[in-house]
Amino acid sequence: MPQITNRSTAILWIGYALLAALITPATAQTPLPAPVQGHEVTEIGPGYFTFRHKGLRNIFLITRDGVIVTDPIDPEAARVLREEIRQRTPLPVKYVVYSHQHWDHVRGGKIFKDEGARFVSHERCVAHFKDLPEKDIVMPDETFAGDRYQLTLGERTLQLRWLGVNHGDCLIVMTPDHVNVPFIVDLGTAGGMPLPFIADYSLHNWVRSLRELEGWDFTEYVGGHGIALAPKSRLAERREYLEALMSETKRELDAGIPLAQIPDRVAAALQGRFQHLRGFNGIVRDNVRRTITYYGMGW
Ligand SMILES: [Zn+2]
Repeated sequence: MPQITNRSTAILWIGYALLAALITPATAQTPLPAPVQGHEVTEIGPGYFTFRHKGLRNIFLITRDGVIVTDPIDPEAARVLREEIRQRTPLPVKYVVYSHQHWDHVRGGKIFKDEGARFVSHERCVAHFKDLPEKDIVMPDETFAGDRYQLTLGERTLQLRWLGVNHGDCLIVMTPDHVNVPFIVDLGTAGGMPLPFIADYSLHNWVRSLRELEGWDFTEYVGGHGIALAPKSRLAERREYLEALMSETKRELDAGIPLAQIPDRVAAALQGRFQHLRGFNGIVRDNVRRTITYYGMGW
């Protein structure tokens, strides 16, 4: 550090330090534990719960007229969830809402279908379910097009928001009217890394959706994996990771670095800011390979 020679230089350095603290909030985050076994139910607000089964998580709402369940996860998780709901209310499950089409979240709904629940998703999910049918996925009864839908049961309303293509093309963010804690699946799993090959994710649209969510007025959210309540700053952390992944990969491509060398070089560049993310060392190079195809093929 250069020697501080006068008062104005000192003020400049203090200003720089403050600015640095302001513009790098997400990099100061602490590591979070890996998802654990078993299951748990956490109350987020009146009648608003999150259910975790192993590494996956959903939300459910108990209203005076029945229950709104979201992602059933898988048949075993759905059975455990049904029992947890039964311990809290004798009322039936009236709706099951899918957050998106990925199978790890939406298998196992049959137990709720059998008691008469209606299944809801964004209309774009249906094409995926038809294209590649999966026996444990119940087809939606009710879909919506466009960017918002309101699901009301009893005294509660769940706002469903589609932010466009991002993590797949049919993901919706759900927020109950009475508790301002959105359920945001897979766009920003707190403290985690994106899946290695980020298969059907649109990188620039993912960043756009995260920026949009960062602009929403809330302080904590429920994710589709991991801890029950995550601070909004974890969404910024994911966005900063994606932006760094994209810019560092592009820099290497533009410099004409041989493709085989780029994963290691980008991993080294990102390590300082992001190695606290779970699975960083095992995943980052595959994220880079996927990002090379994004810049090379528009995929
Ligand atoms: Zn997903």
